[in-house]
Parts: sequence; structure tokens; C-alpha cells
Amino acid sequence: MEQNTPIIELKGVGEKTQKLFQKLGIETVGDLLASCPRDYEIFREPVRINRLTPGEICSVCAAVAGIPNEKKVRKLSILNVNVSDGTGTLQLTFFNMSFLKKALKQGAFYVFRGTVQSRGNQFVMEQPRYFSPEEYKRQTDSLIPKYSLTKGLTNQAFRKAVRQALGQYRFPEEYYPEKLLADCGLISVSQALEAIHFPADTQSLTQARKRLVFDEFFSFLYLLRQNRSFSEGLPNQYRMFETADTVRFLEQLPFPLTRAQKKVWQEIRDDLSSPRCMNRLVQGDVGSGKTILALLALLMTAANGFQGALMAPTEVLAAQHYETVCGYVEKFGLSFRPVLLVGSMTAREKREVCEKISSGEANLIIGTHALIQSKVTYHSLALVVTDEQHRFGVHQREALAEKGKSPHILVMSATPIPRTLAIILYGDLHISVVDELPADRLPIKNCVVNTSYRPRAYKFIAGQAKEGRQAYVVCPQVEEGELEELENVVDYAEKLKGALPADIQVAYLHGKMRPADKNRIMEEFAAHTIDVLVSTTVIEVGINVPNATVMMVENAERFGLAQLHQLRGRVGRGEHQSYCIFVSAQEKPETMERLEVLNHSNDGFYIASEDLKLRGPGDLFGIRQSGAFSFRMGDIYTDASVLAQASAALDKLLTSDPGLNCPEHGKLRRHLEETAANQVDFRTI
Ligand code: ADP
Ligand code: MG
Repeated sequence: MEQNTPIIELKGVGEKTQKLFQKLGIETVGDLLASCPRDYEIFREPVRINRLTPGEICSVCAAVAGIPNEKKVRKLSILNVNVSDGTGTLQLTFFNMSFLKKALKQGAFYVFRGTVQSRGNQFVMEQPRYFSPEEYKRQTDSLIPKYSLTKGLTNQAFRKAVRQALGQYRFPEEYYPEKLLADCGLISVSQALEAIHFPADTQSLTQARKRLVFDEFFSFLYLLRQNRSFSEGLPNQYRMFETADTVRFLEQLPFPLTRAQKKVWQEIRDDLSSPRCMNRLVQGDVGSGKTILALLALLMTAANGFQGALMAPTEVLAAQHYETVCGYVEKFGLSFRPVLLVGSMTAREKREVCEKISSGEANLIIGTHALIQSKVTYHSLALVVTDEQHRFGVHQREALAEKGKSPHILVMSATPIPRTLAIILYGDLHISVVDELPADRLPIKNCVVNTSYRPRAYKFIAGQAKEGRQAYVVCPQVEEGELEELENVVDYAEKLKGALPADIQVAYLHGKMRPADKNRIMEEFAAHTIDVLVSTTVIEVGINVPNATVMMVENAERFGLAQLHQLRGRVGRGEHQSYCIFVSAQEKPETMERLEVLNHSNDGFYIASEDLKLRGPGDLFGIRQSGAFSFRMGDIYTDASVLAQASAALDKLLTSDPGLNCPEHGKLRRHLEETAANQVDFRTI
């Protein structure tokens, strides 16, 4: 079996299973093996019932004591059964598993595994998994991979398919030169692929992961180096001069620019009028006022008779920018002729907009990345601004360059990254930093609490709503099969409705909703017909509703600090005092220490560097900064040292053989070219 063998050729994978895998984007054996576990489960020795800790996932070896008791609530069967191990009793609850009435033999021992909760003075476990003691023993202390699943596909089926694929797979030949492997302490690619799925122990998992993360960073950085050589030499084909438009706009704004904004605006103006094409990243903490800078650059472009595009990662954000711009045009008579281009528009609307773009009637195009890059013919595209995106990939740059001459590029990022990392990750861009917040901001008040604080938090939210403010409640994304561990957005919104006074409008938002629905909810929240918005991290990016003053984050322990800081940035954007409540379902000292960093600082750069310090290589699959740099596996914080190593190794290699033309680098060059074609999707990096 090879990379491209369709998975249906695996034994046990029929058409039905194939469809399920396809839902996860897995078509070939190569895809399957590239789908690394999202976590590992270690079956530890069972714990005595009198030693259980509520909130943790534990295994208990206990005998069935008494007859299972079944209740029916509408279509749901609820089966309660007590088990005991001599040190105490534990109540198990199973849903829709009536067959267990017979299957669980009274007096027999089983191992039950699940999350322990305490109810009154009793420990309970809902929907535990169960094993015979022998079966459990066989698996004790081994690392069992947990995959991202979809409804209908079990972890076991996934594992079996992977196991089989590994057995018959013709592994790719090693592509790194031996010297590089040795210098960087890397295991071979085939060893790594095997061990990432079925690690013998934690050490081999660590090695496997390091190798795969190194690979990911290495090809990313290779692309970056190419990007740099591609864009460094580009001449400025749209030399601009400053006009009265931007000066007037600044005079009309209700606030003066901060010193930092002024400095960056000067850098952008210099770029636009210099002999070289602009390739600049603007980094600034949330709320530092980057949008105005983007608008100023776009206005200068329009005033010089060119077109500019503003690309946002989500429709919600694109729509919001469009509203802002239209508001400014109306209020200040700016010379923008803006259009919005997003996926949820009808074919006809899109056609009309595209006509305006190609005729030059529109001079500011606001939309989502995918649309702005595809199919659109521009009249005179001179500047592309990407908001809340961390990188502008070679592919994008080339795609736009094909449309005519290479436009100026301005990338806005709100993820503060420590300087050491920024130099590596943004090596191909000039960096501007907006290192100051507008002076009129009240610092956000923070607190880190456990789940017992919820009723008080709800009361607080209700109080704020009464005063006319709004609130966000963020829950982590839910993975199939993980429901019981996490707060799910839809259920949560229901619960919250019950807990808040009836006149408070609660709505929810999550990534799986249709874009049009998401936009509608966001618009309603912005218009204040919704008071409390329960959401996954889809609201993390760029949303600006200055009237929102409370950000409550559930399961805060599941998020990286930088991400939590982003979330917090959704409040404190207006004149009102804002509050952030981080709810942690775990009270481990490490977790609390991490969250305390947020409690004490509102400075994104400081938080990012603390995150870097606090998270070591031991932090294998715990927290990912989803939303920031979405490498498949690597995490720029946890794996900062691997990133630095990959960067140094690549530089060394390219110094000795810039084009990788030596015969001993042939395999590597081919590998990098192949991976470049389907390199990480830059839109979400
Ligand atoms: P971000 O940098 O996170 O993208 P925004 O550009 O959305 O921040 O700005 C956040 C809010 O601050 C907006 O409501 C904006 O109008 C306001 N703002 C921007 N610059 C200033 C300033 N110099 N003084 C006061 N408010 C400002
Ligand atoms: Mg922004």
C-alpha cells in the first residue's frame, strides 16, 4: 500500500466506513496515517472508590452490587446500578443501554472507566466504559490513541484501520540527509509514523512527535524562504503619494491616533511610496486599533485611483468591516466605493459585485480570503490587507500576482508573539508593532474561578444586562464523543436561558452553523437584540461590539493563554468597565498558575512569553493554540525549540546548497516540493 491507495482497499473498510472517513477528509491510506491522534489515553491501575477525585477520569475495579434499576423518560432509558469494591460504593448511570441489565452479572467484577462526579454524598459515573478485569489489565499503562471522529465512526474502527494500514504500508524513503537527522536528534519518518499511532511508551511518543513537528516546521519554513526571495525583489508598481483624503479622515475621527498608531501609519505610507513593493506585518495587541491603520492604507490606495482589498478570515468579520466602512463613508464622505464579497451571497449578487470589481467601479473589496482570491478579475488591485491572519502564503501571493501586477501586502495580526519566535515565523515580512492601547481604556477586571462560581457569574451577567450591557460566554469546541466532558454550546445556551431572567435574550453561535446564520446572529448581537451570546471560539477573531462588557470562558483550562487573551480582547473595547471570568473545571496547581498569568496581566506580549515559559515539552497534546498558528501538530509555543532547530537546520542546508541541487538533497527537494503543494492552509495559520 502506498500514499495514494484508497482506504477502501483496507480490510474492514467498506463503502459505509469509507464515507465516514471521507467526512473527515480521509481518502487515502496516506491521509489516514497523517491523521494523528488528538490525544492518548493511558489506562492506569484502577483506583479505590474511597480515593476517587471528582472531575477526573478514573478506572474503578468493582463488583456489581444489586439489581440494575431502569427508568424510562420518554424515549430515553436510564439504567442505574451500584458497584462496590469494599472501600465504598459508586453509582453508575447508563443511557439507552438496557442490554446491560442482563450483561452485567451481579457479584462479578468489572473495570469501569469514566468521569467521576459527586452528587450529594455519593460518587457517580455517567456512561462509563466497562471491561473485564483481564481485558483491562492487558491495556494497563499503554498509550491508546484517540482520534478525531465523526458520528458513526468509532475510535476502535479508526484504530483498526490505522493498524492495518501501518502493517502494509510502503513507507516513504527517508528524505533528510543523515547528518541532519543526527545533528537534530531525529528518528526516521517511518519510525515516527508508527510510533505516533501506537507508541510503546511516552518517550517514543515524544520522539515521534518531535520528528513530525520538525517536518511540519521545516517545510513551512522552506516555503517562507521562497516567499522571501520571491517578494524581496518586487518593484513597487503602484507608487502612491499622500493626498488630502487621509489627512481629512484623521481630522474627522472622534479620537486622535495613538503614538504607536502614528508611527506605524508612517511606516505604511513610506512603504507605499517607496520603490519596493510593500510586504508588511502589523502586530498589535487586541484593541490596539489596527483596523484604522488598514483603512488608512486602503484610503490612500483609493485616493491614488487604485483598488484595495480587505480580506477577513470569516464572513462575520468581513461583514463587520463592511458595515464599519459604510458607516465612515456616510459620516465622513470618504472616497471609498466599497463592495462586500462573501460565500453566502447568491450567485447573482456575486456576479454583480464581480462586475463592479472588474470595471473598477468598486475601489474597496471586502470579503473572505477564498472569494477574494478566486475567480475575481480586478481592475487595478494595488493593495491587499489581510486582517487577523498571521501569514500571507506564497500561494496567495502568486495567485494575486497572476491577476496582474503584484500588489502591496499588509498583514494584520493580533496574536502577540515573542520576538524570538516572530523573527523565525515572520522572516519574510517587515514587522511593525502597535505597542500601545488607546488611552481612554479602562483595564479589564479579571477573575479565575471554579465551576461552583457559576451561579454568581450568571447573576453578574444578569446585572450587567440590566444596565444595558452585553456578554459573551465561550465554551470549547466539542469533539464527537467528548460531549460529556465539555460544555456544549447548544445545551449550555438552554441551561443559561433557564438561569437568567426571562427578558434576557440568549443566543448561540458555533462553527458548524451556516455562514448566513452566523452572520445573522452576529448582526443581532451587534444591534443589541441579543444580550448574551454563547459561542465557541468562532468569536475569537476580530469581533468588535464595544457594548459587550463580560467575557465568561468555560473550561478555560482547555485553552492556551494567548487564545484566552484573544477572547478577552472581545471586551474592554468601549467606555464601560469590562470583566473577564475564566472558569476552570480543574484545580490542578499548574492550571491555576497558568490562568493566574491572565489574572495579573492584560499585556498580550507578556502573556505570550509567559505561555512560552510555562509550557514545556511535557505538555504533549494538552492545549493547542487553535486559532493562532494552525499547524497540524506543531505548536509554536510548546515546540518553540523544535521550531528554532528546524530554522537553523534549514539555513545551514540552504547556505551550502541554496537550490538543493546536490544529488544527496534530491529526495528532500522533491519532498518539499510535494508538501509545498498542499502546505498548511495559510488562511488559518
Ligand atoms: P484591533 O487592533 O483589535 O483590530 P480595532 O481596530 O477593532 O482593534 O479597534 C478597537 C476599537 O478601538 C474600535 O472601536 C476603534 O474605533 C477604537 N480605536 C481605534 N484607535 C483608537 C484611538 N486612537 N483612540 C481611541 N479609540 C480607538
Ligand atoms: Mg481587528
